[in-house]
Amino acid sequence: MKSFDKNELMIIAKPKKFALVGNPNCGKTTLFNNLTGSTAHTGNWPGVTVDRREGEYKKCPETVTIVDLPGIYSLSPYTPEEVVSRNFILDEKPDCIINIIDATNLERNLYLTTQIMEIDVPVIIALNMIDEVKKSGDTIDAAVLEKKIGVPVVAISALKGEGTTELMDRAYEIAGQKRDGFTVLEQSKLSHLINDVAIALKGQDIENPLFHAVKLVESDELEVAAHKPLLGMIDNFKSTFQDDIFGVDFEALIADGRYKYISKNYSTALTRNSKTDKSKLTKSDKIDRVLTHRIWGIPMFLLILFAIFHLVFSENFLFIGAALGKDWVSLPGTAFEGVFGAGGINSPGAILQGLMEVLMTWITDGVASLLVNSPAWVTGLLCDGILGGLSAVLSFIPQILLLLMLFSILEDTGYMARVAFILDRILRRFGLSGRAFMPMIMGFGCSVPAMINTRTLADENERVATVRVIPFFSCGAKLPILTAISGGIVMSFGIGNADIITYSMYVVGIVTAILAVVLMKTTTMKGDAAPFIMELPNYRLPQFKSLMLLMWDKAKHFIQKAFTIILASTIIIWFVSHFSFDWKFLEDSQMNNSILAGFGKLIQPLFTPLGFGSQLNEWGWVFIVSAITGLIAKENVVATFGTLAACIGANVVGGADGIAETALMIQASGITIPALIAFIAFNMITIPCMAAVATAKAEMPNKKKFKWTLVFWICTSYIVGTIIYLVGSWWWTIFIVLAVMALVVAGIIIYNTKAKIFKFKNKKDKK
Ligand code: GDP
Ligand code: MG
Repeated sequence: MKSFDKNELMIIAKPKKFALVGNPNCGKTTLFNNLTGSTAHTGNWPGVTVDRREGEYKKCPETVTIVDLPGIYSLSPYTPEEVVSRNFILDEKPDCIINIIDATNLERNLYLTTQIMEIDVPVIIALNMIDEVKKSGDTIDAAVLEKKIGVPVVAISALKGEGTTELMDRAYEIAGQKRDGFTVLEQSKLSHLINDVAIALKGQDIENPLFHAVKLVESDELEVAAHKPLLGMIDNFKSTFQDDIFGVDFEALIADGRYKYISKNYSTALTRNSKTDKSKLTKSDKIDRVLTHRIWGIPMFLLILFAIFHLVFSENFLFIGAALGKDWVSLPGTAFEGVFGAGGINSPGAILQGLMEVLMTWITDGVASLLVNSPAWVTGLLCDGILGGLSAVLSFIPQILLLLMLFSILEDTGYMARVAFILDRILRRFGLSGRAFMPMIMGFGCSVPAMINTRTLADENERVATVRVIPFFSCGAKLPILTAISGGIVMSFGIGNADIITYSMYVVGIVTAILAVVLMKTTTMKGDAAPFIMELPNYRLPQFKSLMLLMWDKAKHFIQKAFTIILASTIIIWFVSHFSFDWKFLEDSQMNNSILAGFGKLIQPLFTPLGFGSQLNEWGWVFIVSAITGLIAKENVVATFGTLAACIGANVVGGADGIAETALMIQASGITIPALIAFIAFNMITIPCMAAVATAKAEMPNKKKFKWTLVFWICTSYIVGTIIYLVGSWWWTIFIVLAVMALVVAGIIIYNTKAKIFKFKNKKDKK
């Protein structure tokens, strides 16, 4: 018989599974990354992890699987992501639960602990953020806490990697051992009632009887639905019980019992620094007084946003203008002409973009010089088709990364959570909660994770409405459209600052999103906002390492996309723009007779109200086909633009970047400024890329809602584009727009009051 050695057996045995469970923002993902060496995204706001994630820890005698779960405040879940955590703990039976506690917020975090302890599973407590506790001068005695709670407690700092080895060693020790659930309610008046129910459950061989018993006494929705046959008996037990204060509100009674127990027994492990004066405001409070001010909060947010755009896009940094000597800034005659500024200093973002442009021009020229003797179509395909398209997109990567980095700094410091809080005050009036703002802000990075993040919303209507407007928060891939076109406007018409245009377009997106949500919530998706229970995280300094990881991830993502989807699209676009319907090869100047042009011209009239339809000359179709290729990936809009412009302007000397190429297209097509702005808005708001559409479909509760979502995107982008073009071209049309808006608002008010009267009547009828 073959004998197994120890190692082989270990491979066969199922690996041990440890689950990380804790409140939102307590450092679960940071610990997960530390233990498994992964680079999952952490963030200083609740709800960053909405699905479970697994990794391996290798420093125990055998490899252990670590599972990172979404944060939860209690085991009675309200939102889809919270259900993920609860079900994992109960159904997948981890070998050990690592309950992470934010030690700076001991009592609130222990509330969840008291519930986890009721489950028959080994538990270890990781007392995280101990570095912050020490810094404040407080002390927590882990040994005292361990003795009182009766499960191992290890003080750690997930961020600095302190105490994590001890944590894992002790977790490994207790993993798989038997532990019977224990409830802190044992000493309360409810103990008889809970025990009776627990005994009944045990009699039926139900796992974790104590846990289910407490939840059934609480009348937890999920439990009540799962144990219907037992309800009669439980109600019988309950009917004999009545509390002086809480009456028969068992949920409140149990919550009260837990908190009382925690403050009486566990809080004693914490000694506050005697020197900190409680009446004095903490640093965080002081900053909050300014940043979350009732009146100044929102203007301050807009100002901060503008500062970011100025830093990334401005070609007139700090508005110094030409005050500084021109020549040594603009370096005329060199390869770096205009990179550092021309008529003004460039912002860091614009400088990076300029440098990238120099690099791309250098590559394009190099390739062109190698190809001098090859046939025209080879040079055309390589230089104009592929390099023209790719460089249009690649030259914006530094700016995209810088912008995303600044946003993620705002997020990591905890400021974005404050913005959600400020906006909650306003949004609540329209039946929306500030919670919905967080996935929206994530949309600035990419719509896909943002849409998935809507699982943190409890209300289905609110979720649907939020998923629909997330694409309006212009993602990284849409940024080249904004930059290329606003840069092109500045270059061709010599007006405006590129940063002001990009900033305004972002604001247009945000405002459209908020108006659209308000409109939905007052008409087809009525309902009150769910309570906003997020607490404000402490202000924290962003971590350099995690910022760099994020940048690296995003850069990889864009470059991968550039050399796959976008590369393929540029090649296809080049071919269909250089062949006629009877498959004859066309010169660049004959592109107007191509298959692509024919297709573009066919639907071009549809866009006349937006300014880039029939009023343009024979090159107008370029805008249409660019917008359509954007449905695959938004970078394609500028890539297609680049490819076609490079062909049109093959003989014109110009830089190899999206801005110069756009300027060329503007000249060639005779498009106006309002039409260009409408073009940006249309691309920003219309149907997003394929990946986002697929995600939206998956996150919608049913097919009908998804179909309406597509209709919604098309209509909204068309309407916003039209308004921009009309008002931009003929300012007096603003009166028409306002009149129509007033009619719509009046219509909604009438519709809503009618609906109310109708409901009222219904109620009367019933009586
Ligand atoms: P999660 O929501 O529980 O997954 O929490 P995250 O892992 O995303 O962390 C939330 C915030 O807490 C981040 O800003 C982390 O940098 C920070 N953080 C996590 N662990 C520690 C720690 O041990 N010390 C300090 N000072 N900050 C931490
Ligand atoms: Mg997390």
